[in-house]
Formats: sequence, structure tokens, C-alpha cells
Amino acid sequence: MPVADFTPLFEKQFIDGEWVPSTSPDFIEVENPATFEHFARIPDGTPEDIDLAVEAAARALPAWSATPLEARRELMRKFLEHFRSMREEIIELEAEELGAPVSFAANSHCDYQYVRVASYIDEVKQVVFETRFPASTVIREPVGVIGCITPWNYPLGQIVQKVVPALLTGNTVVLKPSQSTPLTACLMTEAFRRAGFPKGTINLVSGRGSKAGARLAENRKVAMISFTGSTEVGIKLSQKALESVKRISLELGGKSPCVWLPSVKDFAPLVPQLFNSIMLNTGQTCTALSRLLVPRSRLAEAEAALVAKLPDYPVGDPKDPKTRIGPVASKAQYETVKRYIELGISEGARVLAGGVPDEPVKGWYVKPTIFTDVRNDMRIAQEEIFGPVLCVIPYDTVDDAVAIANDTPYGLNAMVCGMSEAEASKVARRINSGNVYINNGPRDVTAPFGGYGASGIGREGGRYGLMEFTQLKALFDHSTY
Ligand code: NAD
Repeated sequence: MPVADFTPLFEKQFIDGEWVPSTSPDFIEVENPATFEHFARIPDGTPEDIDLAVEAAARALPAWSATPLEARRELMRKFLEHFRSMREEIIELEAEELGAPVSFAANSHCDYQYVRVASYIDEVKQVVFETRFPASTVIREPVGVIGCITPWNYPLGQIVQKVVPALLTGNTVVLKPSQSTPLTACLMTEAFRRAGFPKGTINLVSGRGSKAGARLAENRKVAMISFTGSTEVGIKLSQKALESVKRISLELGGKSPCVWLPSVKDFAPLVPQLFNSIMLNTGQTCTALSRLLVPRSRLAEAEAALVAKLPDYPVGDPKDPKTRIGPVASKAQYETVKRYIELGISEGARVLAGGVPDEPVKGWYVKPTIFTDVRNDMRIAQEEIFGPVLCVIPYDTVDDAVAIANDTPYGLNAMVCGMSEAEASKVARRINSGNVYINNGPRDVTAPFGGYGASGIGREGGRYGLMEFTQLKALFDHSTY
């Protein structure tokens, strides 16, 4: 089905099982960051749209939460079939709304999401919904109506991580995706409709955070807010949500370290896994390994290894299959990244590659940039830049490296590379972070994902992510009289 067939959906909200117009006549334009073309528009959703969607979700809740798990799993399998059938359109749209190179859009924005959905369908069987104790029975119940608010950088990935486990565990959902990259959310919602999810179980309201998003946090019938985005907005939103004592789950920012231990004989083979993290998706990844910690005595050797591999990451048109780095997602993001590159120079870091981006003519392009001789107290080493900007920080001892790795308010992701897994693993256990990769350990879709400190509250992924959308009830049912 060509993308054009989905275009009418982009301009509507999905409420109570139907695509309907917003209560507002206003729209938000969606820009292609590689061409500056405004190629689609979404409703500028209102608090009234949110309230209608929440009412629908609340009405659907009793029947959906009472639906047997097997029936929910079967519907989710049908959804996955429809979602898979939209693969080509999803890839095309992620290149257009996000500027994601088609190869990365295919692997990461699309195919990996299918893996995640399949994993949730499987893992939900591992969740223990009922446990008998000597004097009670403890049951896990759905939390209720879940408000999901998601960012622009992995438009589908962040939605899958919330909506799929929330529905599988018997909750109903109102989704407010990012207004910058909102289009594939419409395809995913349409896949739920085609699969036959009962009306009201999944609702989509497009719009701005300050209007539609803020109302989700306020509406008293919303039992939980599951948010992915910046730490700043996450805090503000949580304060609002706590006024009606909602459960809160936050997946926030990061400033993740990659430690190359002195035992590593050759740094060159370690560069691709580092660049895949900090450079792909144009550095707009919450888990990006943005600080590289190297032994001070081998700084020059590390720098040479990094510079040698950079040509393998060409910047260009997202639709060219050879492109590995597209533009950043928006003018706002371009300006943020540019400001940080200028700041790094003024803080005294040395530019090893890249530098201040050229004035954009067509596309919000920035050059992959590597700063070296960075001190961890510089702002470029402490604050999330969210662009293809790597900070190389020299250290003197392994204890130093651990201290530097942990010296940030965040704790989302990390990597430790050493000659033996045992050595790297020992260091990994000392790092304050929700995820730590040891050497080139592959990602495990069933593992919990989430942050320590300012990186968030709660976990997504696998059975842990499913349990996040449940609450415990104790039945004292073993009467003794
Ligand atoms: P953002 O915080 O600006 O926006 C995220 C979402 O919140 C959007 O849908 C936005 O419309 C909405 N929003 C904004 N203000 C709101 C308000 N006052 N009330 C309610 N909703 C509001 O984040 P972003 O710029 O879209 O995304 C980038 C950030 O997301 C980065 O900090 C990144 O690290 C983080 N992120 C974290 C993870 C993770 O899993 N930890 C994953 C991806 C992105």
C-alpha cells in the first residue's frame, strides 16, 4: 500500500475505534529535515481531544482487563501481522519525518520493533499473575488507563515499548506521540484497528506536549503516565501527574560512558561498536555512548583509531542506501548541536574531527564531531547533546575511569571493553547505570531497559517492562474461623 493511502489518517485522531477529526481546526506541519519540505500535517490536538480519548479508554477498560490473556496475545499476533505488512511505508516515512537513512530505518526503526513485539507476546507468559501464600493470594492487575507520551528520536520504538506491554497486561491506552515525528504512530494505530482491537483500547491523539500532553498528565481518569523524553519535561510532567497520584514511569536522557581498559591491545576493532552507538541515528539516541574514556598514555593511539574509521560513516541523503548519517531531526536540534560544538571549542576541548556545522542550505546536516582532551567537568561532557558528537576523556587509573564514568547525573547505558570478559565485567559492575555492555555483548530484547539517577524511573523490555504496567492486590482469602 503506498504511503499516500495513509495520508488521510495523519490529519485525524483515533478515538474510540474510529479515525475522527480533532476538536481543533488547527494543524501542525511535519517537516522533512533533509529537504525542509513540509510534506504532511497532523491535528494540533486539544485537551478536549485527550478527554474524549481518556473517556473511551476508561469505558473499554473493564471488558479488556477481563479478556483472557490468550485472547489478548492472539490479537497482538494479528496486530504484528498487519504491522509487518506496513514495513516499506514505515521505512519511507522514517526517512522523511526523521531523516533516518533507509538502511538504519529498516533495521532499527522497523525490523527491531517487530522483534520487540514478538518478544512481549512471548514474555507475557512468564509474568506471574497470581501467587498463593500461606494466608493470602497475591494477584497482578492492570493499572488502568495509561497515558503514553513519546519522543521524536525513535518514533516507533518508544511507542512499542509502552503500548504493546500495556495492552498485553490488560490496560487501555491513550498515546500522544511527538509532534515532530508523528506519522508512523498513525500506521501502527491503524494496524491495531485492522487487527480488531476493541474500540477504546488504543487511542491516538496527535498534538503538542504543552497542550495535549499536559492534559494527559492532568486528567484524573488516567492512572499512569509512561513517558519517554527529556529529563526536564519528565520532571515537570511528573509533578503535574502526582497531583492526582498517578503512577509514573520515566525513560529520560543519558550521557553514557564507554571505557577502553588499558589491557586492550588494539583499539581499532572497538571503534565500529562505539560509532554505531554515538553516530548512527545522527547521535539522537538516549543510550548513545557519548563519552569515551581512554588511558592517558594511549590517547594518541585512540585518536588515530577513531579518525581512521570516520570515513565509514558518510553523511548524506537519507534515501541513498550508502548514507549512514542523515540530518538531525529539526532546526531546533540543529541549533542545539551547533551551540554545543561552539561551547566545546570555547571550553578548550580539541576538535579531532568535524566541527561547527556549515550554514544549512538544504537539510539540517551536522558533521560527525569528535572532541578530545575533554575534561569530565566540561559542559560538553556533562550535558546531553543529542547529536553525533563524541567526547574523548583521558584517565590515569582504572579507579579514575570508574569515577569519571559515574560522575554524571545520568545512568542509562555504558560499555566496558577489556582483553577478558571477566576483567571488563568486574569494572562493569562498578558503573552506576541501568545497562552496561561488556565488550561487544549483543543486545538482549528480553532484558530490562531503564536508567539510574536522572535517566529515569522504571523499566521497559521483557517481563520487567510488562510488570511495570501491573499493580499488586493481596486477597486475604484463607479464613481460619
Ligand atoms: P521532550 O521531552 O521534548 O518531548 C517528549 C514528549 O513529551 C513529546 O511527545 C512532547 O510533545 C511531550 N511534551 C513536551 N512538553 C510536555 C509537557 N509540558 N507536558 C506533557 N508532554 C510534553 O523530548 P524529545 O526532544 O522529544 O526527545 C529527546 C529526549 O528523549 C532526549 O532527552 C532523550 O535522551 C530522551 N529519550 C530517552 C529514551 C529512554 O528510553 N531513556 C529514549 C528516547 C529518547
